[in-house]
Amino acid sequence: MIALHPYSLPLAMPYRWAKGEQHERVGFLARCERDGAVGWGESAPPIHLTLDPHALVAAARRLLEGLDDGDPGFLAALDARDPDPRLRCAIATAWLAARAAAVGMPLGRFLAGPDGAAAATVPANGLVTDALPDDAAARAASLVAQGHRTLKIKCTSDRAGDRARVAAVREAAPAARLRLDANESWAPEWSLAHLADLASFDIEYVEQPLPSDHGPAAQAAYRAQSPVKVALDESATDLPAIAALLDAGAADVIILKPQRAGGPDRAKAIIDLCRARGVRVTVTVSLETAVGTTAALHVASLLPAPLPDCGLAMGRFLARDVAAAPVLTDGRMIVPTLPGLGIGAVDLDGALSARPRR
Ligand SMILES: [Mg+2]
Repeated sequence: MIALHPYSLPLAMPYRWAKGEQHERVGFLARCERDGAVGWGESAPPIHLTLDPHALVAAARRLLEGLDDGDPGFLAALDARDPDPRLRCAIATAWLAARAAAVGMPLGRFLAGPDGAAAATVPANGLVTDALPDDAAARAASLVAQGHRTLKIKCTSDRAGDRARVAAVREAAPAARLRLDANESWAPEWSLAHLADLASFDIEYVEQPLPSDHGPAAQAAYRAQSPVKVALDESATDLPAIAALLDAGAADVIILKPQRAGGPDRAKAIIDLCRARGVRVTVTVSLETAVGTTAALHVASLLPAPLPDCGLAMGRFLARDVAAAPVLTDGRMIVPTLPGLGIGAVDLDGALSARPRR
């Protein structure tokens, strides 16, 4: 049986990025229990959309109506209904985690299959969203002191602001690998010139410099001219879209969000495709609770070695969580070895907070 639980959690600090400033995270959790084996999953919609978590749960309930989660063909029956990927993510994660738990395996190893491997730890990048250069520098120094070797800096359409933040972070963290994330906010007219300027700070890659309404051919033309490696995130919506991007030669790196992919099984299919095509993948979360973060950690454990630093360490943004977040030590997250999702108790008391002040 699959139970659904809405949540609405205040953030400990504003989440500032190119699409605005967020103060809460809403979504829902799914809990699947079969013969005593329990699995949890999470649905975390794009954080800048104003959504009612109860409405999300109602949509997921409609999706599940008449389906039998005891049927081995449950996911195929679900997919026949063409589910929204983020609704599917919660349901599929819970269902697969329960099946993994039933055979005593952690979710990652279960998804890897008998011939695959799952890493024991996954390196995590640190995220810098602070607006002011001094704050960004202090954040960068703190993240490096915590063991993060890679820092990702959120960028905006304010070119001078971007430059000041990137310069401050580079000065505060001279040995760190730096990534930029434009989140589609750079205008095509000046994006390449901006990137050429920022390239002097030694940038590993930039995420989504061009808006995703530019198709694979335009993205490939941009990449051909870019002085910095290009990672595609918002463009990398699903397996067919990613296949088209790879066919066009549009990306050096694919950013894989298990939420957007529709769950861990679909995420694994994307990892397998990119591995076959020799394109790197970075797994990131969508600012999720410990449930979704742990699921994404299991997915990231399936990446080919050497593992890239993944975008999994976002727990500091939540004022409170529904369970213990994965252990992060010296910049690496430890993949749970317990059966299923492998998290401790999930506490839903307080999961539906009053709306925070705006
Ligand atoms: Mg991104």
